[in-house]
Amino acid sequence: MSEQGNGNGGMDMAWSDDVVTYRRALHRIPELAFQEEATRDYLEEHLTGLGLAPRRAGGTGLVVDIAGQRPGPCLAIRADMDGLPLTEETGLNFASEHPGIMHACGHDGHMAIVLALADRLVAEPMFSGTVRLIFQPAEERPPGGAQRLIAEGALDGVDEIYGLHLWADFPVGVAGIKEGAMMANADQFTVRIQGKGGHGSQPEATQDAVLIAAQTVVNLQTVVSRRVPPLEPAVVSCGTIHGGQTFNIIAETAEITGTVRTLSMDTQRLIEEEIRRIAQGTAALYGAQAELIYDKGYPAVLNHERAVAIWKERLRGLVEVIRPQPSMGGEDFAYYLQQRPGAFLFLGAKPGHGTAFPHHSPHFVIDERALPLGVEVFYRLICA
Ligand code: MN
Repeated sequence: MSEQGNGNGGMDMAWSDDVVTYRRALHRIPELAFQEEATRDYLEEHLTGLGLAPRRAGGTGLVVDIAGQRPGPCLAIRADMDGLPLTEETGLNFASEHPGIMHACGHDGHMAIVLALADRLVAEPMFSGTVRLIFQPAEERPPGGAQRLIAEGALDGVDEIYGLHLWADFPVGVAGIKEGAMMANADQFTVRIQGKGGHGSQPEATQDAVLIAAQTVVNLQTVVSRRVPPLEPAVVSCGTIHGGQTFNIIAETAEITGTVRTLSMDTQRLIEEEIRRIAQGTAALYGAQAELIYDKGYPAVLNHERAVAIWKERLRGLVEVIRPQPSMGGEDFAYYLQQRPGAFLFLGAKPGHGTAFPHHSPHFVIDERALPLGVEVFYRLICA
């Protein structure tokens, strides 16, 4: 947060105040994936109060339709609902009241924006067709809530879908959107090394799994630097390495886990093969064996060209639209875009004063002036 919602030329200030109120209320009650019950109740009560008929779906999610003045297509808007397992350290007077849980990615703001959008669409239904608001649980943790909502029919009858993410890298007033990859394939891998344990004083009788794990981590650094073309974005990060029980025993097994981020399926396939080859080859070098378990996570968020062009056109004069670098983070909004045309947008929310902390930091704050702008970003898309 850090600043109040003022100075967004031409916008009705009542909307600005409400969206901030919603965001602060939701910020106080963060909940983890598929446990967003208090959050769901808050949203549900408000939507019902507007005379709408939200239906529960996707676990702790909500889907609600708002009818326009004339028949027409159905356009869906999605907001994600979950917080993160973090202890908030922002010092805000509306900080988390749930110990160990925090809205540290901006999902409180996403929900507030879409809730205020509902107010506005009900009051000023200057659109054709239907707007479907999708409040989705569990974005932060695969398998996520999107696939479950889709399986339960949240996209039935929907023609297009749109979403946004408040973005701490951009200042307020800037929006990032482009066709194609906005966010990455986010995969997880595990390398299991099977060596031969023994006495620390008799290495000649062993195949040291700890040594092999160390070599494997080093060798994996060559996947991106020597196998992926230099202009192709890719990340291979080893996050954990576990092996051995005590100082004088040579470990029989060891395990490495890590994450792979790519924007294209070709590179994703290449990296999986290379990790397997290097893991098995490194183990073989020392007479041991390795196995790779590769779990594909959220696919890349791939924006549809026509949807991007339409949204950009409608945002003219409201925000400065830039062509962003894709984020190597993951987002299960990707699943909706595999089913329907649409687009995902990064909306600048970098604090105007003080330090900007990254998403998922216990110090993460947004500039609340981004919130009324978010409502307007959707309203203009819908009511052109
Ligand atoms: Mn997020």
